[in-house]
Amino acid sequence: MLRFECAALSNINKKTNMFETKEDEVNMMENKKEIPKEVRKAYESERAIYEKIADMGIEAYVESLPNFHEAFKEDFEKQFGCIDEGMPGSFETHLAGSGILLSEEEFKEMIERTKPETITSHASCGAAKLYAEKNGLDVSQVDRIYQDWAIVQAKKYGLKYIHISADEMIRPKEGHTAGTCYCDFTGNFSNWDQVNGLPSGFIVSRELLGKEIAARDIALSLTIAFGSHGLGDLLTEENPFLLVAVANNQEQLEAAIKELENIKNIWAEKADVSRDRIRIEGFLAPKEQ
Ligand SMILES: [Zn+2]
Repeated sequence: MLRFECAALSNINKKTNMFETKEDEVNMMENKKEIPKEVRKAYESERAIYEKIADMGIEAYVESLPNFHEAFKEDFEKQFGCIDEGMPGSFETHLAGSGILLSEEEFKEMIERTKPETITSHASCGAAKLYAEKNGLDVSQVDRIYQDWAIVQAKKYGLKYIHISADEMIRPKEGHTAGTCYCDFTGNFSNWDQVNGLPSGFIVSRELLGKEIAARDIALSLTIAFGSHGLGDLLTEENPFLLVAVANNQEQLEAAIKELENIKNIWAEKADVSRDRIRIEGFLAPKEQ
């Protein structure tokens, strides 16, 4: 069954370029430079959290957090925001670069289906950088490129537009500090920073994006985290990156974990990264919200 699913995922991959080619992926991981001290410090400040998760198991850990339920909302701001762990506030839809990496058709379909009121851009976006590289644009102008793109989409679809500056973001501007990616299968996971004790993390709105687009965004979170703007070599078998499935019930959680295992295995092979440096975890949303 698992083998069949892997094969199915590989076919999607070929059809839609879900992940980079092996060569691209490895190139993206290179250009290693020293991890900025601000990034190292922020990650190390969460060491105790990761140790508790490892000791207690993530389900018992999140249930021990007094305001865990506040991570879940139904009255979201109807806005598109990046998967970046530095996004402040609550967004209904977290997708890479607010959708900058989607095809025009995919983006249009997403707008029509989820009906956002606002589109946001933000400073130093990894997805926007990838967009600039893929389109042969000047990567040093990535903030402006992302803003211009978002303004065009806002006009086209009649949305409000907000830019989030580096000072407004809840991560150091020197790089990505997230050792976690929350893959939200509930549609209600708001933001990790609403809860004292949740590790900072990328958020991918799996439920709203659908399997295929979410898989690309989850893979991108791995590429960023393991690359030169992320935690790089700080992520080890002892201190792995966590891919966390957030689900509504046990059945959904089991399927979600299988889905994440497939994404992890395909990405790890392409990026030439040991699978043991990524751990799949999962927890359920609180019953009473
Ligand atoms: Zn971004």
